[in-house]
Amino acid sequence: MKGLTGKNVLVTGATSGIGQAIAVRFAEEGANVAINYRRSPEDAQDTVEMAMQKACGKLEKCGVKALPVQGDVSKEEDIINMVNTVVEKFGSLDILVNNAGIQTESPSHEIKTEEFDRVININLRGAYLCAREAIKHFLNNKINGIIINVSSVHEIIPRPLYVSYSISKGGMGNLTKTLALEYADSGIRVNSIAPGATITPINSAWIDDPDAKAAVESNIPMKRAGTPEEMAAAVAFLSSDEATYITGQTLFIDGGLTLYPSFSEPWTS
Ligand code: NAD
Repeated sequence: MKGLTGKNVLVTGATSGIGQAIAVRFAEEGANVAINYRRSPEDAQDTVEMAMQKACGKLEKCGVKALPVQGDVSKEEDIINMVNTVVEKFGSLDILVNNAGIQTESPSHEIKTEEFDRVININLRGAYLCAREAIKHFLNNKINGIIINVSSVHEIIPRPLYVSYSISKGGMGNLTKTLALEYADSGIRVNSIAPGATITPINSAWIDDPDAKAAVESNIPMKRAGTPEEMAAAVAFLSSDEATYITGQTLFIDGGLTLYPSFSEPWTS
């Protein structure tokens, strides 16, 4: 994809699932990737190896760097340290991908305040604070920086029993638009991808159970879940020089899930 070689990228929550695929895809495109993990550097090892394998193939060394970087995105201090570390090790930061996210299930009238706060603090406040630190760096260094937020179809589809998750992704849609508008004339682009049901560990409740998986997939117009690689391809596109006039947008990648599937057969005249 045009314009990604040599770029310095930070992907939060890059130890598994969509974040891992995004980091690997950037390395494949010739970008240096900082692979954020929360607890142990071991957690980032698989992503580092996959990224280097894609970037260098059989060569023992190539120009691409894959750097594990610690940071709990619910902690402001960790975020500041994480962005500083990436800038120090890579020399600069060009692209931030806010991917880290969690979800918890509870009836909305029973959710504990701490549980609610935990989801918002990781999914929304964390994404904002990472963006804030990246934007400071972009402005101070006159970088035409790029931010991609990993939102969800639940940015627009209400999700009962997951109110904190729904709010966090709805907020992420407005975070994307607000930052895009505020910094458009500084050459900074901000966009989101909104995955539908995707085969990753966050969906362990159904991906390994054939009946549950079939039930989920029966609701998707394309009749299958998405892959992390399909999400990563859209992130690469939005970050590339093929997308230089796109800002403030959420790209839904969902096999048609946001197309009101129940209207696929007429049920009213
Ligand atoms: P996942 O559980 O594999 O990935 C989540 C990542 O976030 C993990 O690497 C985890 O370690 C990291 N993380 C969690 N808390 C963190 C914290 N405090 N600090 C730093 N990292 C933290 O699941 P995934 O499906 O790959 O999810 C990635 C993103 O995609 C999430 O934002 C999720 O909401 C979004 N998403 C996923 C789906 C889906 O169906 N899989 C659909 C829509 C949106």
